[in-house]
Amino acid sequence: SLELAGIELAFGTNKVLRGVDLAVPAGQTACVIGPSGSGKSTLLRATNRLLEPDAGDIVLGGSSVLKSNPDELRRRIGMVFQHFNLFPHKTVLENITLPLRKIKKLGSDEAGVAALRQLDLVGLREKASARPGNLSGGQQQRVAIARALAMEPEVMLFDEATSALDPELVKGVLALMADLASAGMTMVVVTHEMGFARQVADQVAFMDRGVVVESGPPEKLFTAARSPRLQQFLSQVL
Ligand code: ATP
Ligand code: MG
Repeated sequence: SLELAGIELAFGTNKVLRGVDLAVPAGQTACVIGPSGSGKSTLLRATNRLLEPDAGDIVLGGSSVLKSNPDELRRRIGMVFQHFNLFPHKTVLENITLPLRKIKKLGSDEAGVAALRQLDLVGLREKASARPGNLSGGQQQRVAIARALAMEPEVMLFDEATSALDPELVKGVLALMADLASAGMTMVVVTHEMGFARQVADQVAFMDRGVVVESGPPEKLFTAARSPRLQQFLSQVL
């Protein structure tokens, strides 16, 4: 499980997270929705220790994330960004083997086998020796997901993983994410895809101005929103 409790984080005087609570039981998917600037990306970055919270605790599998070393965390937490963040001058295969060797300390044969297995799972084995720039956006995002999965993380964080994709490529990536969810991966998914949240999430959390205003199962949140701010947000996006 992943538990965020009382997370606060400010950039200078701008208090971006003002006490965020979110608990994701092992094997479940939480979707985080909310307006631009509400702190969704900041929350994911704090979870992965790309940013240090000013207060609060993040507990993964029973141990505090804030006390573990960043390399160990990169192994335990997979993150997928809107812009795929692949190394452009390396092949697809090297993009996946590099962190396996550097962070997981696998030998090159072992890393190669693990990388090809992940490429199989995302349907891109035949692209192993291609450069990312020669792949479609959807394919690049599937490589980024494969790279994260190869580390065998305990939890996967997705920050608007489909927002930069052409519409016809969105479906394939969402389907891959849905497969992962049903395979029992623990996931936090920041998304504008309300259909995905409705169908895949066990829990939807609505963030506004640095707090989770309301959360619950999707059928409840989408059809019986309690807070006026969520009602207004949903009237704009649904
Ligand atoms: P979006 O839906 O547009 O991606 P978001 O909910 O992900 O929005 P964040 O990116 O978390 O929002 O940003 C929340 C606030 O924090 C914004 O006011 C933003 O300007 C500020 N912010 C984010 N990153 C930084 C940074 N590195 N330095 C200073 N301020 C930042
Ligand atoms: Mg964001």
